[in-house]
Amino acid sequence: MVGSTRPPLPTYDQVAEALPLVLEGDVAEKHLDYNGHVNMRHYVKFAAVSSDRLLRGVGIDDDYRAERRMGSFTAEHHVRYLAELHVGDRWQAHTVWVDRSTKAAHQLSFVLNASSRRLSATVEMMLVHVSMDDRRAEAFPKDVARRIDSRIERTRQIRWPLPLGGAMDVGVSAVGRSEARVETPRAALPRPGWLASSSDLDDAGLPRHARRFGEDRTACGEAATGWRYRWRPAFDPREPVACARCRTIVWSIPGSSSV
Ligand SMILES: [Zn+2]
Repeated sequence: MVGSTRPPLPTYDQVAEALPLVLEGDVAEKHLDYNGHVNMRHYVKFAAVSSDRLLRGVGIDDDYRAERRMGSFTAEHHVRYLAELHVGDRWQAHTVWVDRSTKAAHQLSFVLNASSRRLSATVEMMLVHVSMDDRRAEAFPKDVARRIDSRIERTRQIRWPLPLGGAMDVGVSAVGRSEARVETPRAALPRPGWLASSSDLDDAGLPRHARRFGEDRTACGEAATGWRYRWRPAFDPREPVACARCRTIVWSIPGSSSV
């Protein structure tokens, strides 16, 4: 992981202006630890409660768990503590949907200190949609997926890069694919032997290219040297950001599916 490639942190004003306020409160004595500032567990709690509001907003609530027997488990957290919160400070949580796959979703919370007008923490969270009966991951149903996608589209309108830590991502994004056919045509399956690679700016929506293991060029001829790669099981032409030229080239090579 190369630290210098991390996007810059947004300012208090950027967050407060661009993102919906989900939760707020005042820091009390009970929030403090022996260092005299808000203890880390409360940041996680602020983000968790804020996250739950977002979940309820897309329909994942008590009724959903009871009637549809599905829900959401938290799988990962990544917290960056940036500025202290003290007694009497006003805190605000602004939380957004970042991305989703068929079964997992990535959220990002900003905890602001509204009294000092500083960004106090960021909390990234990975959620997995589950069956409440067998406690295993299960795909988001179409209606919920559509609602999440509309919120992710809104997040993508933000004019500054999200300060994601790079510790987690959903893998293959499924945004906009809630209408995908249940049966995937054979020709659209990911091709073994072709790895998907992308630049650091991949979250900005740049194309993902196909590349064979060990080669320094993508199938479409882009220089691949010096890039930082995300390794995926296979180049997936169903991804909306899959490079169109790579897709065509990969399909035209006989036997590439058996490599
Ligand atoms: Zn390409």
